[in-house]
Amino acid sequence: MYTQIYILRFPKDTSDQPFVYKLVKEYDLEFNILKADILLQREGVMILELTGGSKSSVKAGLDFLRGLGVKIERLAARIRRDDEQCYQCGACTGVCPVGALFIKRPEMRVEFDAEKCTGCSLCVPICPVRAMEVSLDRDSVLPEETEV
Ligand code: SF4
Ligand code: SF4
Repeated sequence: MYTQIYILRFPKDTSDQPFVYKLVKEYDLEFNILKADILLQREGVMILELTGGSKSSVKAGLDFLRGLGVKIERLAARIRRDDEQCYQCGACTGVCPVGALFIKRPEMRVEFDAEKCTGCSLCVPICPVRAMEVSLDRDSVLPEETEV
Protein backbone atom coordinates (compact mmCIF):
# COMPACT_ATOMS: atom_id res chain seq x y z
CA MET A 1 0.00 0.00 0.00
CA TYR A 2 1.12 3.57 -0.66
CA THR A 3 -0.36 6.55 1.16
CA GLN A 4 0.39 10.23 0.85
CA ILE A 5 -1.37 13.46 1.72
CA TYR A 6 -1.86 16.06 -1.00
CA ILE A 7 -3.09 19.61 -1.28
CA LEU A 8 -5.20 19.93 -4.43
CA ARG A 9 -5.99 23.33 -5.89
CA PHE A 10 -8.84 23.25 -8.38
CA PRO A 11 -9.39 25.85 -11.08
CA LYS A 12 -12.93 27.20 -10.99
CA ASP A 13 -14.10 25.34 -14.10
CA THR A 14 -13.25 21.93 -12.57
CA SER A 15 -15.05 22.29 -9.25
CA ASP A 16 -18.16 20.44 -10.46
CA GLN A 17 -16.29 17.41 -11.89
CA PRO A 18 -16.79 13.97 -10.26
CA PHE A 19 -13.04 13.51 -9.79
CA VAL A 20 -13.25 11.62 -6.47
CA TYR A 21 -15.59 9.08 -8.06
CA LYS A 22 -13.10 8.58 -10.88
CA LEU A 23 -10.16 8.19 -8.49
CA VAL A 24 -12.03 5.36 -6.80
CA LYS A 25 -13.63 3.67 -9.81
CA GLU A 26 -10.99 4.08 -12.49
CA TYR A 27 -7.77 4.28 -10.50
CA ASP A 28 -8.73 1.99 -7.60
CA LEU A 29 -7.65 4.51 -4.97
CA GLU A 30 -9.00 5.08 -1.49
CA PHE A 31 -9.33 8.60 -0.21
CA ASN A 32 -9.88 10.47 2.99
CA ILE A 33 -10.81 14.13 2.68
CA LEU A 34 -9.09 15.96 5.52
CA LYS A 35 -10.27 19.42 4.54
CA ALA A 36 -12.23 20.83 1.64
CA ASP A 37 -13.20 24.29 0.53
CA ILE A 38 -14.84 23.89 -2.87
CA LEU A 39 -17.76 25.89 -4.25
CA LEU A 40 -19.27 25.64 -7.71
CA GLN A 41 -17.58 27.91 -10.27
CA ARG A 42 -14.97 29.05 -7.74
CA GLU A 43 -11.39 27.97 -7.22
CA GLY A 44 -11.22 25.32 -4.54
CA VAL A 45 -8.71 23.70 -2.20
CA MET A 46 -8.84 20.19 -0.81
CA ILE A 47 -6.46 18.29 1.46
CA LEU A 48 -6.77 14.66 0.53
CA GLU A 49 -5.15 11.49 1.85
CA LEU A 50 -4.79 9.09 -1.09
CA THR A 51 -4.05 5.39 -0.76
CA GLY A 52 -3.34 2.99 -3.60
CA GLY A 53 -1.96 -0.49 -4.04
CA SER A 54 1.33 0.98 -5.26
CA LYS A 55 3.11 4.26 -5.82
CA SER A 56 2.41 3.99 -9.56
CA SER A 57 -1.34 3.64 -9.04
CA VAL A 58 -1.38 6.82 -6.92
CA LYS A 59 0.75 8.56 -9.57
CA ALA A 60 -1.75 7.56 -12.28
CA GLY A 61 -4.57 9.14 -10.28
CA LEU A 62 -2.56 12.31 -9.76
CA ASP A 63 -1.76 12.50 -13.47
CA PHE A 64 -5.50 12.31 -14.16
CA LEU A 65 -6.05 15.27 -11.81
CA ARG A 66 -3.21 17.24 -13.39
CA GLY A 67 -4.89 16.65 -16.75
CA LEU A 68 -7.91 18.52 -15.39
CA GLY A 69 -5.69 21.46 -14.47
CA VAL A 70 -5.52 20.66 -10.77
CA LYS A 71 -2.36 21.93 -9.04
CA ILE A 72 -0.93 19.36 -6.65
CA GLU A 73 1.42 19.71 -3.70
CA ARG A 74 2.42 17.00 -1.30
CA LEU A 75 2.06 17.61 2.39
CA ALA A 76 4.97 16.09 4.20
CA ALA A 77 4.28 13.70 7.02
CA ARG A 78 6.34 13.59 10.17
CA ILE A 79 7.04 10.09 11.44
CA ARG A 80 8.12 9.15 14.93
CA ARG A 81 8.53 5.83 16.65
CA ASP A 82 7.06 5.17 20.06
CA ASP A 83 9.99 3.27 21.55
CA GLU A 84 7.86 2.13 24.47
CA GLN A 85 5.48 0.36 22.07
CA CYS A 86 8.08 -1.10 19.71
CA TYR A 87 8.90 -4.67 20.63
CA GLN A 88 11.62 -5.10 17.99
CA CYS A 89 9.79 -7.55 15.74
CA GLY A 90 11.54 -6.18 12.63
CA ALA A 91 8.46 -6.24 10.36
CA CYS A 92 8.88 -2.59 9.41
CA THR A 93 12.44 -3.02 8.15
CA GLY A 94 11.20 -5.01 5.17
CA VAL A 95 8.98 -2.22 3.82
CA CYS A 96 11.06 0.91 4.38
CA PRO A 97 12.28 1.92 0.90
CA VAL A 98 15.14 4.12 2.11
CA GLY A 99 16.61 2.07 4.95
CA ALA A 100 15.42 4.44 7.67
CA LEU A 101 14.30 1.36 9.62
CA PHE A 102 17.05 -1.19 9.82
CA ILE A 103 18.50 -3.92 11.99
CA LYS A 104 21.66 -2.85 13.73
CA ARG A 105 24.18 -5.66 14.07
CA PRO A 106 25.53 -7.33 16.11
CA GLU A 107 23.03 -6.01 18.67
CA MET A 108 20.15 -7.09 16.36
CA ARG A 109 18.17 -4.01 17.38
CA VAL A 110 15.66 -2.33 15.06
CA GLU A 111 16.80 1.29 14.69
CA PHE A 112 14.87 4.25 13.27
CA ASP A 113 16.89 6.97 11.51
CA ALA A 114 14.54 9.96 11.34
CA GLU A 115 17.02 11.84 9.12
CA LYS A 116 16.65 9.28 6.34
CA CYS A 117 12.85 8.98 6.65
CA THR A 118 10.93 10.43 3.69
CA GLY A 119 7.53 10.24 5.40
CA CYS A 120 6.09 7.71 2.95
CA SER A 121 4.09 6.06 5.79
CA LEU A 122 4.58 2.51 4.51
CA CYS A 123 5.74 1.37 7.94
CA VAL A 124 2.66 2.71 9.75
CA PRO A 125 0.06 0.05 8.83
CA ILE A 126 2.55 -2.83 8.95
CA CYS A 127 3.52 -2.35 12.59
CA PRO A 128 1.45 -4.76 14.72
CA VAL A 129 1.44 -2.42 17.72
CA ARG A 130 1.17 0.88 15.80
CA ALA A 131 4.49 2.07 17.17
CA MET A 132 5.16 4.16 14.04
CA GLU A 133 3.12 7.33 14.36
CA VAL A 134 2.38 9.79 11.58
CA SER A 135 1.43 13.43 11.92
CA LEU A 136 1.02 16.14 9.33
CA ASP A 137 3.82 18.62 8.98
CA ARG A 138 1.72 21.59 7.93
CA ASP A 139 4.79 23.82 7.68
CA SER A 140 6.33 21.55 5.10
CA VAL A 141 4.51 21.68 1.76
CA LEU A 142 6.42 20.02 -1.04
CA PRO A 143 6.01 21.53 -4.53
CA GLU A 144 4.11 19.89 -7.37
CA GLU A 145 7.22 18.59 -9.11
CA THR A 146 8.30 16.73 -5.98
CA GLU A 147 8.20 12.98 -6.54
CA VAL A 148 4.85 11.53 -5.34
S1 SF4 B 1 7.08 -3.22 13.12
FE1 SF4 B 1 6.63 -1.95 14.93
S2 SF4 B 1 7.10 -3.24 16.70
FE2 SF4 B 1 8.06 -4.20 14.91
S3 SF4 B 1 10.17 -3.35 14.91
FE3 SF4 B 1 8.94 -2.04 13.59
S4 SF4 B 1 8.23 -0.36 14.93
FE4 SF4 B 1 8.94 -2.04 16.27
S1 SF4 C 1 7.75 6.53 6.78
FE1 SF4 C 1 9.97 6.68 6.97
S2 SF4 C 1 10.57 4.97 8.25
FE2 SF4 C 1 8.49 4.54 7.53
S3 SF4 C 1 8.76 3.30 5.66
FE3 SF4 C 1 8.61 5.44 5.00
S4 SF4 C 1 10.74 6.18 4.91
FE4 SF4 C 1 10.74 4.28 6.12
